[in-house]
Amino acid sequence: MTSPFLADAQALAEELTALRRDFHMHPELGFQEFRTAGIVNEQLNELGYEVISGVGQTGVVGLLQGGQPGERTVLLRFDMDALPIEEANDVPYRSQTPGVMHACGHDAHTAVGLGVAKVLAKHRDKIPGAIKLMFQPAEEGLGGALAMINDGVLDRIGPQVDRAIGLHVSAMHELGTAAVCAGPMMAAGAGVTITVHGKGGHGAMPHSTVDAVVVAAHIIVALQTIMARNADPDDTGVVTIGSIEAGKAGNVIAETAVMRGTIRSFTPEVKALLRKRVPEIAQGVATALGATADVQISTGVDATVNAEAPTSVMYDAAVEVLGEDNIDTTFRTTGGEDFSAVLARVPGNFFFLGAANAAQGITYPHHNPRFDIDESCLPDGVAILCDAAVRILRGEG
Ligand SMILES: [Zn+2]
Ligand SMILES: [Zn+2]
Repeated sequence: MTSPFLADAQALAEELTALRRDFHMHPELGFQEFRTAGIVNEQLNELGYEVISGVGQTGVVGLLQGGQPGERTVLLRFDMDALPIEEANDVPYRSQTPGVMHACGHDAHTAVGLGVAKVLAKHRDKIPGAIKLMFQPAEEGLGGALAMINDGVLDRIGPQVDRAIGLHVSAMHELGTAAVCAGPMMAAGAGVTITVHGKGGHGAMPHSTVDAVVVAAHIIVALQTIMARNADPDDTGVVTIGSIEAGKAGNVIAETAVMRGTIRSFTPEVKALLRKRVPEIAQGVATALGATADVQISTGVDATVNAEAPTSVMYDAAVEVLGEDNIDTTFRTTGGEDFSAVLARVPGNFFFLGAANAAQGITYPHHNPRFDIDESCLPDGVAILCDAAVRILRGEG
């Protein structure tokens, strides 16, 4: 417990909580983070950062050149967007925007990012190399990371990035713990839409129709054979059809059925298998039953893959703050994360910071209308990221 930044981070505890609550009360959807980005812009300016706004639409980049000579540039990433969810928590800092809620914890990430900015600015004289802060819009399915990459956050805006790090608060981990894992820690994910085209008709005369509902039912069951029968049993993956829309009346055979789902994988092999077999099965089953099927699979996000060396730096930084016994090094989740787009281009680490508190009932999962965090995790996040960033700039990892 000798993190050089823990005392500084803990001194910011109240400020971090106030910031997080302010963002929580004023959530903004992807690419609409105007208020949030404005606060980030203002605070970074006050701290002496060079600030570039409008990167990837509503993203903000903060640059700080350390006072010591150094070759490296480290990027720290914080996402800012909220979700189209009506908050069900009855707390003083409840969302003030109907139908929009910070139900993933990106409010906490933005607050941590501003805490990191403050602590690193304070220690500027001792820091070698360059700090690049990436305040990102639209993580939730809209491609905010890629939008900032396309606008040059990794190379054209400020110096070329050598290592990239970031965090996610986690409802899956108790306060005081973290998951710092090498390799693929979060899944690749893509959206699937399958449209079955049959022939509608009278519910009493199925022989003169092609029943899109029956075809859809066969497709849904057959899709479950991909992981059960096509994938290597040592591999994991997910095929979920979460929505099916077909028909309006009980005595009418539906002409079309639309299914929407998601596919998840950790390895390029399983990703390729899913992208090949979902259309094959949907179209093959449809053909066998006299229908046709259109299958669309979105580009989606890559698996979030942590490189070994930066991960060991993050591990050391997390141990300094939370203690060795509290770091999980084997966790992974089929959740997806668009920071994967950065980690596909730059070696780095993305880790989970425990934010659950079972004793206080803070246990609801991400994207739940009752999601919340234990805000005492915020200074820990600041200290770990500052320590990891400076270690990286000194040449570790
Ligand atoms: Zn989320
Ligand atoms: Zn998230």
